[in-house]
Amino acid sequence: MLTALLIQQGLFALLWVLLGAARLARRSAWQWALGVTAVTGGLTLIVLRDATPRWLGFWMSCVLLFAGFVLLWRGTEVFARQRPADRRHVVGLVLYALLLAWATWYGPAWAFVSVGSAPLGYLLWRTAWTVHSGLRLEFGASFSAGCAVPFWLIGAVLLLRGALAPFVPQITGASVHAASAGNLVTALVFVGCGLVLNLGLMALVVGRMLRRLQRASDHDGLTGLLNRRGIHARLLQESRRLARHGAAYSVLSIDIDHFKLVNDRHGHPAGDAMLQALGQTLAQAGRDVDLAARSGGEEFWILLPGTTAEGARRVAERLLQSVREMRVTVAGCAQPLTLTVSIGVATAERPGEALDAVMQRLDAALYRAKEAGRDRVEVAQAPAATAPAKLAVPA
Ligand code: GH3
Ligand code: MG
Ligand code: MG
Repeated sequence: MLTALLIQQGLFALLWVLLGAARLARRSAWQWALGVTAVTGGLTLIVLRDATPRWLGFWMSCVLLFAGFVLLWRGTEVFARQRPADRRHVVGLVLYALLLAWATWYGPAWAFVSVGSAPLGYLLWRTAWTVHSGLRLEFGASFSAGCAVPFWLIGAVLLLRGALAPFVPQITGASVHAASAGNLVTALVFVGCGLVLNLGLMALVVGRMLRRLQRASDHDGLTGLLNRRGIHARLLQESRRLARHGAAYSVLSIDIDHFKLVNDRHGHPAGDAMLQALGQTLAQAGRDVDLAARSGGEEFWILLPGTTAEGARRVAERLLQSVREMRVTVAGCAQPLTLTVSIGVATAERPGEALDAVMQRLDAALYRAKEAGRDRVEVAQAPAATAPAKLAVPA
């Protein structure tokens, strides 16, 4: 069974090396690869305990396990974007090695088990805490707690083993090679835990990758704002809220004036810098609940939930002024560049009005702003009221 555990851990070490090489959580992956390798080395020495000198089979095996668990913890700290507690890791390792040397050669038999196991359990508990607390914000409480469980579980087994060793002679006396039921259960628990522990780390890496993909799919790479797909989901949400609860919302459509000229005169990179600067201005323009997005090219939308036409017009006028005051410094241009925008405003207040209809009115308002000379705000007309059906009056 221990051999199975060795093979399993060896495979995981290889997998982490491959993931690191594939640039997935690279900085953590190599530490996890080293950590799992050290743990595998420690377990190998435990398997060979009867055939090796005491310092190797007893002392070195546990020191390797400790170093391996420290590396797993450190990799997790890096993954959670925390500063690794390197001084504590080194001091811990030195203290552990010294204490274990005393227990191996001078202490009573139970001391070797207690000193050997309990600190390993402590390391795993700290790793569990790093996973749970350090990644809760990124992944949510239940996912991060789920990934921490394997660490917590193996840690508990090791802490319990260390705590019970002075009082339960079977723990101390049992050879790891004896074909006892206890050894079999322990080995099974460790094979299972080794598997879930690595899968827990794997789940973190995959979870982060999925989040990045999700973000990339509904955000714009240049400005960092939502893209059209991202804001469309929120617009639909507002449209449903209007239908159900009658909550009004407004949308601004902002289009840079004569943007083609900027590209033609100053080059595409200057145009990109301008888009980024405008993106920042728009993101800061509204309240926390307002959402800015780059709907495409040099067009942006801002969704203003719970805002009526008058409020939306005020936001648009303020925005127009902020954009006029913008100065964008661009490499290669002696003077900072300025820009103006045209803004269309549409407000949805009638529960029956579909989102498409609101967006059509918005488009028309923007078109009118362009037609009327640009650098201005145009508010869309309210939708034509559906005429009540005429009663057929007999002549
Ligand atoms: P108008 O005032 O009528 O809106 O004129 P305009 O020149 O802004 O509009 P037009 O639709 O003719 O041109 C839009 C330009 O926006 C053309 C395109 O090259 C540029 N553009 C679109 N996306 C990007 C981008 O990501 N980066 C840069 N630099 N330019 C872009
Ligand atoms: Mg334009
Ligand atoms: Mg345009």
